[in-house]
Amino acid sequence: MAGRDIKKLNVDMGCDFKCEDCEKYFDCNAPQKETFKKRGVYARARDSMAKIKHKILILGGKGGVGKSMGATNIAYALAMRGRKVTILDQNFDCPTIPIMLGMEGGGMRTKDEGGLIPAVGPKGIQVMSMGLILGEDEVLTWFHDLKRNATEEFLGYTDYGERDYLIVDIPAGTSSETVNVIKLIPEMSGSVVFTVPSEVSQNVAKKAVLISQKANVPVIGIIENMSELKCPKCGKIINVMQSGGGESLSGEMNVPLIGKIPMSRDVAVSLDAGEPFVEKYPDNEATVVINRAVDMIEEACGYK
Ligand code: SF4
Repeated sequence: MAGRDIKKLNVDMGCDFKCEDCEKYFDCNAPQKETFKKRGVYARARDSMAKIKHKILILGGKGGVGKSMGATNIAYALAMRGRKVTILDQNFDCPTIPIMLGMEGGGMRTKDEGGLIPAVGPKGIQVMSMGLILGEDEVLTWFHDLKRNATEEFLGYTDYGERDYLIVDIPAGTSSETVNVIKLIPEMSGSVVFTVPSEVSQNVAKKAVLISQKANVPVIGIIENMSELKCPKCGKIINVMQSGGGESLSGEMNVPLIGKIPMSRDVAVSLDAGEPFVEKYPDNEATVVINRAVDMIEEACGYK
């Protein structure tokens, strides 16, 4: 079937009140949708996150642009400011946040009456991640429904308690895996979009901006990651992956550019060592950009 026909098939599907699978969900104002949100796992998710003040999405559209690095260090920088933070790692297949926080496997617990309790990492950061469940030699081969079940478990059956922030690391793409998460999280405060400088990444990051806007989540800003490399010997700037993708996207979408994170050996080493660079390398340009993102998040959430 040609691509155009597939798209038409989806759009032409009528309303059957199965809102959880509906392609028109974000554009729909039908009263039935509001009724649907008050039932089942949607109502449970609202209850389970009722005491989380602000929910922030970390998006990128594409894999490998630094979303998990950003989510980890944004959460850590918020915790350094005394905020109570939870990270929800929605990368089921390749979860890296526990590694970047220096956490061992385990830690997430099951309550006697059912449901989960998040693991607790450094600075009291709560972490929900498959990386704490999967062994190093295990691979996940889940299809759509199993991922949806896990998403519902993480969002609707977890005891988060009172938190200032939920930082959600959203997987690549703008379809089911992303939409399932966004639909279940009530009242999100904003999103931060990561891209690398290449035109390909910029095109995909634009879709991340669009899905955020479609879901009524204001885009707080864009971060261009791996933007350039400074030669450690002569100081010359080398644009390994071109330059300016973040700036260009920011201009096109009328969204602030938070900053550009250059390639840095210190950043790479800190991620592998599980020592967030925002604490270990306070003067690194990456830390400056992440702290600027945190300033903007705090402002968007009414803390400044
Ligand atoms: S989101 Fe709207 S159009 Fe879609 S199934 Fe629900 S009520 Fe119908």
